[in-house]
This record gives sequence, C-alpha cells and structure tokens, in this order.
Amino acid sequence: MSDVTPLYEGKAKIIYPTDRPDILRSYFKDDATAFNAQKKGIITGKGAMNCQISAHLFKKLEASGISTHFIDLLSANEMRVKAVAIVPLEVVVRNIAAGSLCQQTGLALGTVLPFPLVDFYYKNDALGDPLVTPDRIALLKLATAAQIDRLRESALRINQILTDFFQNCDMTLVDFKLEFGLDSNGQILLADEISPDTCRLWDRSVADPDRRVLDKDRFRQDLGNVEQAYAQVMERVLSQVV
Ligand code: UDP
Repeated sequence: MSDVTPLYEGKAKIIYPTDRPDILRSYFKDDATAFNAQKKGIITGKGAMNCQISAHLFKKLEASGISTHFIDLLSANEMRVKAVAIVPLEVVVRNIAAGSLCQQTGLALGTVLPFPLVDFYYKNDALGDPLVTPDRIALLKLATAAQIDRLRESALRINQILTDFFQNCDMTLVDFKLEFGLDSNGQILLADEISPDTCRLWDRSVADPDRRVLDKDRFRQDLGNVEQAYAQVMERVLSQVV
C-alpha cells in the first residue's frame, strides 16, 4: 500500500499520483466483486497475479502494435501507467456465448459465435453499466462516431492477438472486457487491466463445464479453487515469451 493519497479507488485497483503528472501508479487489490458489487469477497494473491498477468499481456499487445497505458512493473502488485482520461465505455468482445449474452439472447452457454461480437456498456455503477448502442453513445456524448469505430477496430485486433496467445497457453478466450483512455494528445490507449477478472478463459484440455473455468466465474458461481485457477492462468501466461 502507500501513504500517498489515492487519486481514485475502484473495485479492484487504487490509482496513485507520481511525481510526474503524465504517469500514475496502479495498485492491484485482492478485493473481488461481482454482480455490480452485490457479491463481495477476497481472492488471496489476486492483486499480484492480475498485475503480473496484465503486465505480460500489455507487453505482448505492445509488441503486436497496440498502444497501451502500461509502462513497467514496480512491484508484484503495482505498475506504472501513462495517465489517460478513461472513455466511460466497457468494450466487451465475445467469441463464445456466456454470461449476460446467454441471459439476454437465450443462446446456450458455449455456443461458438459466427463472428466476434463487440458490445459497448456505459460505465456507470448507479445505472448498473447498461448495454448501449452507437446512437445512445452519441446521445450521451460518451465517444464520437470516429472514436467508436477506432475502439471497435482495436478491440477486434486485440481479440485476434489474445485468442492466439491464449490458445498457445491451452486456454480458450471466451470473452473479455477492455477499457480505453485518451492521453493528453487525444491518442487512444488501451488501459485498465486484462486478467481472469476481466476475461472468461476455459481450459482447452478439460471438457467438464465447471472444471474448465479458469476465471472470475469460479468466484461468481462459487465453483471453488478460485486462487488455484488464477495461479494456473498466471503460470501459463508468464511461460510464454513475448
Ligand atoms: N466483464 C468485466 N467487468 C464488468 C462486466 C463484464 O470485466 O463489469 C467481463 C466479464 O468478466 C466477461 C465479459 O466482460 O469476461 C463479458 O461479461 P458479461 O457481459 O457476460 O457479464 P457478466 O455475466 O460477467 O456480468
């Protein structure tokens, strides 16, 4: 932790200032929440695991031409990041039906989608992060039409890179959530984190629908062995040279 007053504390991370206005420190917590924070708990070691998994994936994405906010790791659960103004949208990419897509469409869990689906959600806890359309994004001035196109394009490119990466780790990338930010030049950078908190990952070697889950659904659905699943993901991700 730190004596410095945080700039912002979210559900999974605390953002601290540094001696440079363009650089922030992101501290990853063990706190876990689900269902718009109605379910709360601690996943021991999660902060450090998610921080290191995210750092590795940001490095991989940078090496593949995606601009991210990541600068470097400061400790096991802290990274230095470029300061950005977060675009108030959660950009979700889905390859296989799970979670809210099944609830809202009736598609069966595990249905392979004919194309990657990009969904935008308005980041607003009070409203429960509702699904929004491009017209509603324009209405609420959350992003411009050109920015929406850029976010979509970038999310699909990231999906290609991460799908291949996780496949090499013997995991299927079912779906994931991204957040983006604008730096002082108006450039869009990938921000936040990419971890088992924000991705659904299934073990490709396991057929059983409960046992194959290696992500936060173990916590959401009380499947047990949450820490072990996160540790598995970290071990496999960090074993890949980027
Ligand atoms: N997700 C996230 N934060 C959110 C909502 C969703 O990281 O606030 C991730 C989630 O882990 C999954 C993907 O986005 O990998 C799609 O989630 P979904 O819309 O199915 O919502 P859920 O059923 O997980 O609430």
